[in-house]
Amino acid sequence: MRKKRSWAEPFKIKVVELLKTTTREEREKAIKEAGFNTFLLKSDDVYIDLLTDSGTSAMSDVQWSSMMLGDEAYAGSKNFYSLEKTIQEYYSYKYLVPTHQGRGAEHILSQLMIKEGDYIPGNMYFTTTRLHQEKAGGNFVDVIVDEAHDPSSEFPWKGNVNISKLEKLINKVGADKVPYISYEGCVNMCGGQPFSMENIKELRKVCDKHDIAIMLDATRCAENAYFIKEKEKGYENKSVKEILYEICSYTDGCTMSAKKDSLVNIGGFFACNDEELYKKAQNMCVIFEGLHTYGGMAGRDMEALAQGIKESVMDEHQKARIGQTKYLGQNLLAEGIPIVVPCGGHAIFLDAKAFLPHLDQDDFPAQTLAAELYLESGIRAMERGNVSAGRDPETGKNRRPPLELVRLTLPRRVYTQAHMDVTTEAIVEVYKNRDKITGLKFEYEPEYLRFFQARFSKK
Ligand SMILES: *Cc1c(COP(=O)(O)O)cnc(C)c1O
Repeated sequence: MRKKRSWAEPFKIKVVELLKTTTREEREKAIKEAGFNTFLLKSDDVYIDLLTDSGTSAMSDVQWSSMMLGDEAYAGSKNFYSLEKTIQEYYSYKYLVPTHQGRGAEHILSQLMIKEGDYIPGNMYFTTTRLHQEKAGGNFVDVIVDEAHDPSSEFPWKGNVNISKLEKLINKVGADKVPYISYEGCVNMCGGQPFSMENIKELRKVCDKHDIAIMLDATRCAENAYFIKEKEKGYENKSVKEILYEICSYTDGCTMSAKKDSLVNIGGFFACNDEELYKKAQNMCVIFEGLHTYGGMAGRDMEALAQGIKESVMDEHQKARIGQTKYLGQNLLAEGIPIVVPCGGHAIFLDAKAFLPHLDQDDFPAQTLAAELYLESGIRAMERGNVSAGRDPETGKNRRPPLELVRLTLPRRVYTQAHMDVTTEAIVEVYKNRDKITGLKFEYEPEYLRFFQARFSKK
């Protein structure tokens, strides 16, 4: 009797996009021209693209057909009302302000809620989120559990807030200096690691006591909901849809990059329950995004997003999504490759410090490893380490974060298990030759979010 029951993609493939392979010589030229930064490679020179899961997912036939229902009226498009109803039903919030993508929503939230000198605690930073908080005059404070900083800790809820770290901060600076806590699902920077429902309930209690809002970064909360279903007692028989709704119900509002969970190529939103805040957000939307009933999205994009949200909470979808990530992770672990455990939702992260222990962190091991993987195979990953963390505004020095990672990010519904096998083999090959790999130094370092546009050369 066969005991193991595998997952399979809950779809069949109707249209395919052909992939291009390149020679090592072509890749050597391409990566040099890109300044050893995978963000600067041309997509045409890439074989399997694991740079990001942002806007790279495959839409369903139903989403594509919903694009024909686009109502491109400047004001009051019917697709806005369809999206608004979907957000109320799936994310629980009363009020919706669409934005061009996640950072548009972060900009609005930060400018409206943060005053000069405020503190914004969060479960680890995200690049654009922290920058918008700082630009609004705030100081980000990391209050994530310690396990999150340890790539080898098997703790299942590495996305949790450490409540005593949070209370310590509140007691030190005073609750009136903490406008909200920034709470992210499946925390990107520590490996796509989820928080538990227990944690968010506790957080709600503490925040109620001090009258502090909880603003959810809902970007990957459908994936977080699946982890709760899989691992948290009492949730095994609830649907992803119910769990997602419950998560949101403990919070006061959210920012969302719909390019991730929601299976669309562009879009985002800000949502909340407070009418005053909503009105202010609508007003800011017209300055920076567009009229408050489209916020930078076409009508057709809003309709595809509404449908994408419905598909994103299907249990079978998340089972295959998280299942594929785990498949890649387990392949790598079986080969002895150092990765962040437990396997996260949207990506597998190589531990570049353990992979290239002979490099100093200021030689940018993760940046180096991403470039080497491209050279070996044409597979594109990205750096999440010292380059992404940037410089400390006070000392001007590299932040040298505990985690120095290369992210292999899986677009949703795009690649197959065979692609995961080829990826594993390429990484094993780089690992075999790791002793010969030398580090990188900056040739050009932009002021903001330097990882996107920086250029390097070999040390
Ligand atoms: C991508 C992302 C954002 C920013 O969203 P964009 O759509 O890229 O502007 C914010 N938070 C998290 C956790 C993200 O992954």
